[in-house]
Amino acid sequence: VLRGRAVSKSFGQLVVLDGIDIAVEKGEVVAIIGPSGSGKSTLLRCFNGLETPTSGTIEVAGQPLSRNRRELAKQREHLGMVFQRFHLFPHLTALQNVMEGPLTVKKMDRRQAMDRAYMLLEKVGLRDKANAYPSKLSGGQQQRVAIARALAMEPAVMLLDEPTSALDPELVGEVLQVIQGLASEGMTMLLVTHEMAFARHVADRVIFMADGKIVEEGPPEALFDRPQSPRTQQFLQNVA
Ligand code: ATP
Ligand code: MG
Repeated sequence: VLRGRAVSKSFGQLVVLDGIDIAVEKGEVVAIIGPSGSGKSTLLRCFNGLETPTSGTIEVAGQPLSRNRRELAKQREHLGMVFQRFHLFPHLTALQNVMEGPLTVKKMDRRQAMDRAYMLLEKVGLRDKANAYPSKLSGGQQQRVAIARALAMEPAVMLLDEPTSALDPELVGEVLQVIQGLASEGMTMLLVTHEMAFARHVADRVIFMADGKIVEEGPPEALFDRPQSPRTQQFLQNVA
């Protein structure tokens, strides 16, 4: 569903991504871990067209990412993005936030958009907060609304960039639980996370990145319990 071939990205002299090859198959959950500055966010941003790679190609649902803005916008509809910060529309209720994409982008009728939005809020455990504005919600609740909003567009893949790292520790679990639920429903996900225990639990495959390269990847048990590269070993020791 998602593929990057020899993706490189530089900002001036700074090489941030250096020949990344990555493919995410339908139904797969892939976790990316790695030190700060290793290029994880930049890679996700390349996948959703927020950054243009300096070289290499990105394919979403079998199509190379377009350079044409309209086509790119269309391709982005296949991607559900969830960021560290929630970016909800502050002037809209939780329900309206979830309805917004289907109404404006998909031109879904109001009744149907509302029914689906309630269903999605239910899924993230927030049906009772449907009429609350973001400022009245906790960080964990806001992030769950953000996940529901991304799901409302029926994405082929969810891209999540450290979805819990801006949260107070006691709110992390509720968001991870929602992500875990999506994984068990077969949602395809590419997830950047600092939560090693969670990556081990939820991911089919873990990728360790450092200095803009994929150093090592494999099933979680192999990568966490028997890391091959000294770089991976060192990283895992430091985060443990
Ligand atoms: P973290 O774990 O801290 O989120 P990361 O792995 O997501 O780190 P990136 O955000 O992808 O890392 O950044 C990788 C490098 O690229 C950093 O050195 C950063 O300063 C640099 N960088 C990112 N975006 C830009 C930009 N728009 N212009 C210049 N440099 C950038
Ligand atoms: Mg980042």
